[in-house]
Amino acid sequence: MKVFSGIAVSPGMVSGPALVLGSENFRIPRKFVSKDAIDAELQRFHVALDLVCKDIKGNEQLVSSQLGAQYGAIFSAHLQMAQDPRLIREVESLIRDQCRSPEFAVSRVLRSYAEQLQKMGDRYLSERALDIFDLEKRLLRKLLGESREELSNLTEPVIILAHDLTPGETATLNTKYVLGFATEVGGHTSHTAILAGALEIPAIVGLGRCLAEISGGESVILDGDHGRVIIDPDDETLARVQHSQARSQRVRDRLGEMGSLPSETQDGQRVTICGNIEFPEEVRQCIKRGADGVGLYRTEFLFLSGNREPSESDHYEAYCRVVEACGDLPVVIRTLDIGADKVPQLMADQFAESANPMLGLRSIRLSLRNTQMFKRQLRAILRASVHGNVRIMFPLVATLLEFRQAKMILMDVMEDLEDEGIPFQRNVPIGMMVEVPSAVILAEEFAREVDFFSIGTNDLIQYTLACDRSDPTVAHLYRSGDPSILRLIQMVLRAAEKHGKPVTVCGQMSSDPRFIPLLLGMGLRSLSATPQAIPRLKEVVRNLSITEAERISQHACSLDLARDVEHYLQGELSRLCPDLVDEVGF
Ligand code: PEP
Ligand code: MG
Repeated sequence: MKVFSGIAVSPGMVSGPALVLGSENFRIPRKFVSKDAIDAELQRFHVALDLVCKDIKGNEQLVSSQLGAQYGAIFSAHLQMAQDPRLIREVESLIRDQCRSPEFAVSRVLRSYAEQLQKMGDRYLSERALDIFDLEKRLLRKLLGESREELSNLTEPVIILAHDLTPGETATLNTKYVLGFATEVGGHTSHTAILAGALEIPAIVGLGRCLAEISGGESVILDGDHGRVIIDPDDETLARVQHSQARSQRVRDRLGEMGSLPSETQDGQRVTICGNIEFPEEVRQCIKRGADGVGLYRTEFLFLSGNREPSESDHYEAYCRVVEACGDLPVVIRTLDIGADKVPQLMADQFAESANPMLGLRSIRLSLRNTQMFKRQLRAILRASVHGNVRIMFPLVATLLEFRQAKMILMDVMEDLEDEGIPFQRNVPIGMMVEVPSAVILAEEFAREVDFFSIGTNDLIQYTLACDRSDPTVAHLYRSGDPSILRLIQMVLRAAEKHGKPVTVCGQMSSDPRFIPLLLGMGLRSLSATPQAIPRLKEVVRNLSITEAERISQHACSLDLARDVEHYLQGELSRLCPDLVDEVGF
């Protein structure tokens, strides 16, 4: 049994067979072969090995003739590895003695070699492990040939273990067969993590290097509540996991009943809780859980899950579905936030150049540069505005000029629609995300011009603390409880209050029950969270009074370390909602 720990990003516990995806998304379809097929399978392995050796020799000759013998020599090392009698014996033995498929055997043996090299702690040797992975890929490519299966062609339930999944790949996962996934990289608020929540698939990111130790087909438990992946669990662990699975389910069932209860504190203060969505289908989950509307609709996912740029009517249809399903409830449609880790396949070449995509041409910057695309989206939003309660929000606004320019383009679009006699809501509220420190510093100035603010803590944390939200190696710095973040939120709340403008927090911070007393104590009365989190948030709101929240917030804001803030808030949450903490693990 092997246990790996990472960052829990989407709750739930599942068990099933592992499907390991390498960088080329190889999948090993069969783990075992029948006894009478062993000779044929051994032969298949040798044919593949011969073909790989031939390819490597070809590479050696080509490189030697073009770059010189010293570069060609790189491939002699590869060839030696592929022809290593010990390696060949081990693969043969797995096939012959344990009835393993050649694909499984190759992967298992080569990965155990790579793992040994990686563990030696020597950089040179660790890099040689990459050569072994390369050999594994070459062999799998020959063995799987045309039968290499695509992720979208799954036919049975699996738990995906991958180095990384892009938001686009995650968006297209078939939730019927993908029970859960875990990746070696990724952080708390990477968009892959956010999508896992949207798809309601248990998920873990930032496991660190572990794929070398897993071949695929093993039995796996993925514990999305505590961030653990257990490979080949023993019977005792299985029993324990099943027991805790049943307990978590009981809590979820109880929380499921929260939908119809008002989101109101013990002293009668109403707190608005809306849902964050990426796909129109998620509105149903929001309504079922008693959301007060959609506080953040991440429209860029319309680009990420398709292979062509959406037309105005694609936009319009998606927005109408959301707006109509919400009736009178508000729907905050955020204009495209493309760039950084959210790069659609069809625009990949435009982004390849940026050395620092998080600081590059993304979000509103991209929309202001590509006004035709921006106008198509704005037209669709305005047209959908007559079907319900629509608000428009611009992402990643860093300067007043950007906000004014975006608003001017919106006015242009309004005039066009008027000329064409197309109906729309002229007084549609126009707001902005506050997710860049400059927007907080100038919050007073912005507050004079916007209709509402929505604080995007996911980006605000990354830009304030200078740490990439999707990089697990800086996850210890990336903390919602950092005193600098608390102070920035207070600054926005103060500026907004002075100008009578509403504020919501829509980053992942507001989906974390620990931060609810703090945020309410600071004066916030509106949250937008992942649909899955809504019942938990309601439970906290209903167990809390504003006086108590103010006391908690005052104390939290007097602490000077993120660690102490979060520890203190965890303690307060245990006191307020012991069930939530004990059983689901917050
Ligand atoms: C945020 O940055 O907090 C946010 C809500 O936007 P996104 O996660 O889509 O960047
Ligand atoms: Mg953001």
